Amino acid sequence: MSGSPRYRFAPSPTGFFHVGGARTALFNWALARSTGGTFVLRIEDTDEARNRPEWTQGIIDSLAWIGITADDPHFEGPLFQSAFAEAHLAAAQRLFESGHAYYCDMTPDEIQQRAEAEGVTGYAGWSRDRGLGPAAGSVLRFRVPEGITVVRDQVRGDVSFDNDTIEDFVLVRGNGTPVFMLANVVDDMEMGITNVVRAEEHLPNTPKQQMIWEALGHEPPVWAHVPVLVNEQRKKLSKRRDKVALEQYRDEGILADAMVNYLMTLGWTMPGAEEAGTEIFPWPEMEAAFRLEDVNLSPAFFDTKKLVSFNGEYIRRLSVPELVEACDPWLPAEWDRARFAEIAPHIQQRLNTLADAPGVVDFLFTDDPEIDEASWAKTMTTEYAKPLLADAIDAYESADWNHETLKSTLEDVMARYELKLGKAQAPVRVAVTGRTVGPPLFEALEVMGRDEALRRMRAALALLDGTDG
Ligand code: GLU
Repeated sequence: MSGSPRYRFAPSPTGFFHVGGARTALFNWALARSTGGTFVLRIEDTDEARNRPEWTQGIIDSLAWIGITADDPHFEGPLFQSAFAEAHLAAAQRLFESGHAYYCDMTPDEIQQRAEAEGVTGYAGWSRDRGLGPAAGSVLRFRVPEGITVVRDQVRGDVSFDNDTIEDFVLVRGNGTPVFMLANVVDDMEMGITNVVRAEEHLPNTPKQQMIWEALGHEPPVWAHVPVLVNEQRKKLSKRRDKVALEQYRDEGILADAMVNYLMTLGWTMPGAEEAGTEIFPWPEMEAAFRLEDVNLSPAFFDTKKLVSFNGEYIRRLSVPELVEACDPWLPAEWDRARFAEIAPHIQQRLNTLADAPGVVDFLFTDDPEIDEASWAKTMTTEYAKPLLADAIDAYESADWNHETLKSTLEDVMARYELKLGKAQAPVRVAVTGRTVGPPLFEALEVMGRDEALRRMRAALALLDGTDG
């Protein structure tokens, strides 16, 4: 094995890929790349009841979306835990032969009765010295030594566990299958993993895993447990309660770069961020600067509002061709892409997600946009609305059709009514777009073209005439 560090990301394919998993993967990715090391993707697919192949594909696709891809030289895998089944059992056998593990044939009921009778909780090593061999239904248990286990953690410092509080845990079930605890260690060993960076919820497993490493005669890896993500109520993010699937954010129009940048801020602050007055940094800078020692201990709030505001920032930084391309999947197939490209630079400021785009410009792609009643009531019932619209129609019949002239022409008209631009624009905007809010009016008119704009303004005027009469 070469001296370069080997990190790994070891998800279980039992559901949609979680934003917390994505954050852990990014931390590992940054470290593997910046140290010239390797990022091993290991799919922990041994929970047969809960695994599904589509979840594995979902993990691979989601990782690729955030830039963790198999075509990068630092990437290795995916490797599958199920392919290492023999190694898991061979390690179990070695532990048995070396006396670090022993068989136990007690049923859960027997264990419970004995614990009650002796007034203890859990399993008190009753089969330790019975000298049992393997038998159908017997489990293999680890013989937890006396003493203290100190886990050296790069985020949390030294964490001590009194071995008295750890019962002789099961390594191999009665049906002969290894448990997570063992398979996970053996895989890390087989794959030459030097650094385990994972979620805090695994910390209670770590002393047990460290004992297995040592019993198998290996130096344990360097551990790091990163804080969990919590929701607004400070509860751990959960599939049932919260929107946690990375794919869902992608499908709602979050840019991958914005997601990556936001995830990196959860529990970690880029050095210099405060002085710079921003948390937005390009990936190469974050990758180079990321250190586990700087990760803080408190749970990190996954704030979807903040994510959306990062996304808005990232959208504004796109070039127009990039923006047009990024919005494409959200646009109905029949919309004219060239027309969208014309309006795109004028809506860039207002988009927080790519999915917002069609709703902002739909009036340019339908013959008769729906008129929002509240917008109509607010703008068309004023005294000046009707005459101003009529004057604007007259003036627009012969104006040069570009946004500057369209603006100055309306300014000339509004002067007659002593109106400010905001008020004067409103009836025109509602006439052509159906709403009071939208992209800059004169640019929208320019893209729409004279014939269509005038047709809509005349239709609105006719409607006003009708309501008058
Ligand atoms: N498969 C475990 C999980 O998804 C990961 C364990 C680990 O990272 O060591 O929680």
